Amino acid sequence: MPRKGQMVVMSGPSGAGKSTLCKLLLQDPRVKFSVSATTRQPRAGEVDGRDYHFIVPEQFRALIREGAFIEHAEVHGNLYGTLRRPMDEALARGEIYLLEIDVQGANQLKALGEPGLYVFVAPPDFETLRRRLVGRATDVPEVIERRLKKAEDEYRERVKYDHVVINDDLQSSLQQIRSLVGLD
Ligand code: ADP
Ligand code: 5GP
Repeated sequence: MPRKGQMVVMSGPSGAGKSTLCKLLLQDPRVKFSVSATTRQPRAGEVDGRDYHFIVPEQFRALIREGAFIEHAEVHGNLYGTLRRPMDEALARGEIYLLEIDVQGANQLKALGEPGLYVFVAPPDFETLRRRLVGRATDVPEVIERRLKKAEDEYRERVKYDHVVINDDLQSSLQQIRSLVGLD
C-alpha cells in the first residue's frame, strides 16, 4: 500500500507524560492514534477499543502467529503489540499515525527500517518522574518501584531517537512535538 502519511513513534519511561502528550496531539484531526493490543487489565477510565484492545494472552499469541503485529513486546509483565493493518490503512489515507510504544517496540520498528519520526519523551529528572507516577495514582507502590527501576535503562535508549523532548512544561513539549511533526 503506498504511504502518504507519517508514522510518529513516542517512547519514554512510564510517567514521563507520553499519554498526556498523545491526547493533546490527538486534538488535531490530522492525527490518529494506534490502538495497541495488550494483555494488561484496563485501568479505571480506560475504554476498550479506544485506549487499548484488551485481550487475553491466548488471543495475543494467536495474533502473533497470524502476523498481525508489526512489533510486539513484553513490558512490565504484560504483552503489548501494534496492529499492522490499521497502521497501513491510516498511512495510505495520509494520516499522521501516532504510536505510543516502549523502547523495545521502537527498536523493532527501526530494525525493520520503518520510516518515521522517533521521539523520546523524557522526564526533567527522576524525582519528578516518581512524583508524577505517585500523583497519577494508577499503580500500587510496588508497580511504581518496578517502573522507576526500568526507567533508568529506558532513559539510556534516548540516544537512538531522532529527538528527545524533556517534558517539563507541558505546553512547550506539545509545541516542540507539533513543530517536529510539521503540524504548524
Ligand atoms: P506516561 O503515559 O508517559 O506513562 P502520563 O501521561 O500518564 O505518563 O503522565 C504521568 C502523570 O504526570 C500524569 O498524572 C500527568 O497528568 C502528569 N504530567 C504529564 N506531563 C506533565 C508535565 N509536563 N508537568 C506536570 N505533570 C505532568
Ligand atoms: P501502560 O501499561 O502504562 O499503558 O504502558 C506500559 C508501556 O507499554 C509503555 O511504555 C507503553 O508505551 C508501552 N506500550 C503500549 N502499547 C505498546 C505496543 O503496542 N507495543 C510496545 N512495544 N509497547 C507498548
